[in-house]
Amino acid sequence: MRKILAGERNPSEPCVFSRRSFIAKTSCFGAFYAVAELIPLPALAAEFASDSRVSPTPIVDKGFASVRKIGNGLYATISDPSKGRQTVCNGGFLAGKDGALLIEGFITPAGAAFQMDALRMVSQVPVKCALDTHYHFDHSMGNSFYGANGVQLWAHASAAKRIVDSYAPLQGADKEAALAPFAKRVKDAKADTERAHAQSDLNAVTGLFQVANASLLSLPNHPIDPAKLPMSMDLGGLTAVIESYPGHSGTDMIVRVPDQNVVYTGDLLFSGWYPVCFDEKATISGWRDTLKKFAAFDKDTLFVPGHGQICGQEGIASLREVFDDIAAQAEKMYQAGVPAEEAQHRYVVPEKFKNFPVFAWGFTIGPAITKLYAEWQGK
Ligand SMILES: [Zn+2]
Repeated sequence: MRKILAGERNPSEPCVFSRRSFIAKTSCFGAFYAVAELIPLPALAAEFASDSRVSPTPIVDKGFASVRKIGNGLYATISDPSKGRQTVCNGGFLAGKDGALLIEGFITPAGAAFQMDALRMVSQVPVKCALDTHYHFDHSMGNSFYGANGVQLWAHASAAKRIVDSYAPLQGADKEAALAPFAKRVKDAKADTERAHAQSDLNAVTGLFQVANASLLSLPNHPIDPAKLPMSMDLGGLTAVIESYPGHSGTDMIVRVPDQNVVYTGDLLFSGWYPVCFDEKATISGWRDTLKKFAAFDKDTLFVPGHGQICGQEGIASLREVFDDIAAQAEKMYQAGVPAEEAQHRYVVPEKFKNFPVFAWGFTIGPAITKLYAEWQGK
């Protein structure tokens, strides 16, 4: 295992990242549901043309991600994984008169470097810190950029341990052995739907394996105790507030700029996507409560989601509807005595969500249903 702490000056090894898309072989079951990596990012909604906070044109657009001004000193980095996999998740940065805060380590150091370059296009203030909104690989595998550049890296107090526990075992592991249980599920599937779901999971885990093996694991070196939040950060004429909410990963934090009604949500918001719920610390009831709280933020709040396009309150409303729909379908099956194992494959994507990307069935809809069952069974 190779590991460095961000913030320490370490010779950075060249970090080679395979751009081979792990979803390349999925078109065979494209009819079942929309697989995330094949769906181009939708354009920014027309309503933002009249929002004075949001610049109509990005300051930089590299295809795989663009950076756009969304407020006074506020920028959003929005990824389009269908055009390249340097960033994959969204992020952004805040630049005040005295300092800057960078959000996310992205999936590669090149992604973090891209965002740093964008910051330097608009501001030369010192970087106060970078923040991983949570520990997941697509938000943290680029952390070594910060390590190599002496940038302090903040994250939830559990994030460093979760990175090590989740991704270190994959480094240097035997690929066949690591993927075998997922390959077996494809082979053993009893029906086409189940096989397609298993194949989407195998593709996702294959991608994760490749990324984890190609990356230098780099850990946040400034743990944030969620009990001490909310916490204000003065960047000079610009105050950011860091808060923590349950839902997606057990390590989730958001950055809020209350003066301008802008929120960087991390993966507590998937905008126009099915939510990724697989994490052992993900909680469906907790996440739905969190979304209810976001819905109570100012009606003009601008959200920078963890994945998908910039949105307003309609983005929160639509993710809540997705959860409502999963819960409604699951509850019917629960009442009818359908076992969880089976129910997780029986969910039908309704017409209105058919363009919502699904990262992989067993990372999104499947675990949402099994977790709901567990909640109902009082487990
Ligand atoms: Zn995540």
